Amino acid sequence: MIIDLRSDTLTKPGRAMLDAMYHAEVGDDVFGEDPTVRKLEEMAAAMFGMEAGLFCPSGTMTNQIAVKAHTQPLDEIICDKLCHIYNYETAGWAFHSGVSVRLTDGDRGIMTVDQIERCILPDYDWYPNTRMVCIENTVNKGGGAVYSIDRMKEIGAFARSRGLVYHLDGARIFNALTALDKSPSDISGIFDSISVCLSKGLGTPAGSLLLGSKDFIKKSRKIRKVMGGGMRQSGYLAAAGIYALENNIARLADDHARAKQIEAMLKQCDWVKKVIPVETNIVIFEVEDSARTADILAAKGIKTSPFSPTLVRMVTHLDITDAMVAEMQELL
Ligand SMILES: *Cc1c(COP(=O)(O)O)cnc(C)c1O
Repeated sequence: MIIDLRSDTLTKPGRAMLDAMYHAEVGDDVFGEDPTVRKLEEMAAAMFGMEAGLFCPSGTMTNQIAVKAHTQPLDEIICDKLCHIYNYETAGWAFHSGVSVRLTDGDRGIMTVDQIERCILPDYDWYPNTRMVCIENTVNKGGGAVYSIDRMKEIGAFARSRGLVYHLDGARIFNALTALDKSPSDISGIFDSISVCLSKGLGTPAGSLLLGSKDFIKKSRKIRKVMGGGMRQSGYLAAAGIYALENNIARLADDHARAKQIEAMLKQCDWVKKVIPVETNIVIFEVEDSARTADILAAKGIKTSPFSPTLVRMVTHLDITDAMVAEMQELL
């Protein structure tokens, strides 16, 4: 048995999701004529209490469109040193938007108001203009760490008081809400824009949503087009998204329970130095040599991601079963 814990992006659509895709009603979405894309965009916007939504090929695109739409060259964005926007999006903030980034040193990627305040620059000729705060919930590189609703609100109130735009990279926001036992409406009104991935824990083959005001989404639509993200009969993919929002949120709790079981197993292993406390579906642990550990585990059929020279990541997802987790008890 191969137990592939490298990422929650590895899931392949099952019969029911493929069926929903097969039966999707589609049109040309560049002409605004795909009813299934429209339905998905409206559905997601309504869930999070936003005015409008935009279906995009990836979460990298939704984040980078948000940065582009909210800023102009000479602006600066504040985010944490662990965040995806800074680390894993090919420095798109520089490439697309001509902005700079100032980093906080949060606890597992969770920023505080104090840390953000220290990043705000005075209005001198020799400084960029502090414009935007981006948080990530859950924090991937922070071991799936979760921002509380209060922390999200507190940062939002502060950002507003200082005239800063507030963006949520919610690639795994449904994992965060599951861990908090909250619903999307509980974060309504906090953010200027939200990015949500459908291709992570929710299990679709591709697609992310950008949510915000009508004006923001109108502007974002044009930026999506210039980035090459205008898709035609994308209703087939949007149908997978609708299916996922209707069927795959409640089951995220199972992924979290399995990640907790794996955490407990790893804590029993003498070759594991430390496990970052598991809150959601991501397990990051410290070893002597992550590449060597990943090789040893791969030889036993357990695939993992070396995340730094000494950190290894495992992620539970739709295609990881209780039987696989039970087998890991024998293999680790
Ligand atoms: C996966 C991910 C994204 C977007 O990634 P894509 O692969 O471009 O869809 C953005 N933010 C975080 C935190 C992620 O984990």
